[in-house]
Amino acid sequence: MEIIIIGRKLKAILCGHGKIGRVRKAAIMWQTPSDAERCPKVFDLEVFLMSGIITFQETHPSIESYWRSIILFGRNVASYKFALAASLLEIVPTGKTIVTLDDLSEPFSRHLCEHLLNAPKQSTSQTSQFLDSCRSYNRNEISKEELLGVTVQKGFNNVIDAFHIVNEGAIPIRFFEKDYSKGDKRIILTDEIFKLQSMQFYDNLSNEAHARWNLVETAWELGVSRSLITVNYDGQSETLFVNEALRRKTVTSARDALNGYQKGKCFYCFRDIAVNENTENGCDVDHFYPHVLKAVSSKLNIDGIWNLVLACPQCNRGIEGKFARVPATKYLSRLQKRNEFLISSHHPLRETLVAQTGASEQDRASYIREIDKLAINALIHRWETKPEGKEVF
Ligand SMILES: [Zn+2]
Repeated sequence: MEIIIIGRKLKAILCGHGKIGRVRKAAIMWQTPSDAERCPKVFDLEVFLMSGIITFQETHPSIESYWRSIILFGRNVASYKFALAASLLEIVPTGKTIVTLDDLSEPFSRHLCEHLLNAPKQSTSQTSQFLDSCRSYNRNEISKEELLGVTVQKGFNNVIDAFHIVNEGAIPIRFFEKDYSKGDKRIILTDEIFKLQSMQFYDNLSNEAHARWNLVETAWELGVSRSLITVNYDGQSETLFVNEALRRKTVTSARDALNGYQKGKCFYCFRDIAVNENTENGCDVDHFYPHVLKAVSSKLNIDGIWNLVLACPQCNRGIEGKFARVPATKYLSRLQKRNEFLISSHHPLRETLVAQTGASEQDRASYIREIDKLAINALIHRWETKPEGKEVF
């Protein structure tokens, strides 16, 4: 197996909204020489990743969309951004606006230590003194005080500056400002981050951050350069899993992983949904093309992530609910758009969606059209519902 890196020069792209997205580098790593022959298509995909993120932010330029773009679309080299996000989400409800690195060190290192227990690889680089200290703490070799000391010294070196960068550029709003001018290094939380708190299901954001973190660390663990990872769905436990050396490894809850890419709304009616299924408006994991189609053809990948959406209980199984009907054709383009958001995230959802539905946007659109034909022939009836909220994707 050979890895070829192809670099191309491209200065800017134009998305559907006429906005310019900068592309500073578009280097693509190939698994095999035959993959390299697909270069033009996958190169288009790489460019599309940028426009996908811009579309995500601009179809609904809300504070949540910007927050989610940081968590869901970042090109990560270490999981510090997730740890900082999870820490900030914890601090916001306390109302504190001036947060020193001392204050941050406890939640930040705690989240990293917890994730290290399940996934030893938390960075793409070989060594990190900070992560080594977290590992030592997990082995009871150093005290909490020592860990917090190292965290303040070494834990925040890049993440404070990099937090608002999504791929190559900073998002237009800031959730905190850095203030290292005083003796105490600190960040000042802005009104923007407190506005997040007023969204109906604020708790979803923490679940989304941890789900995205779980997916990214799993990809590092398995080594994306060695194998194309496919993330699978287990309908019984409603979790996502990967196969690692013939062993099934549960990665995260399907609800937590998918919610952000739908902006926390029901796929069909745009009601706000909760990822905790036991609360009011707790969502269902719905098969866009109904589960019963499995009996029609074993070739249809009905449990593929491309076909899983989150729906409110009313749409899925309420009076006038969808049940085993085929969604109206107007929902097809919405499914494609949601899937392009999954592709715009970096590994492993992107690899999964490309493997399941095709390497180019056209391939993926025709894949869904083919399944749609089979589905309506078998199930006859289409279903639709009226919107309960603003169309946000
Ligand atoms: Zn609904």
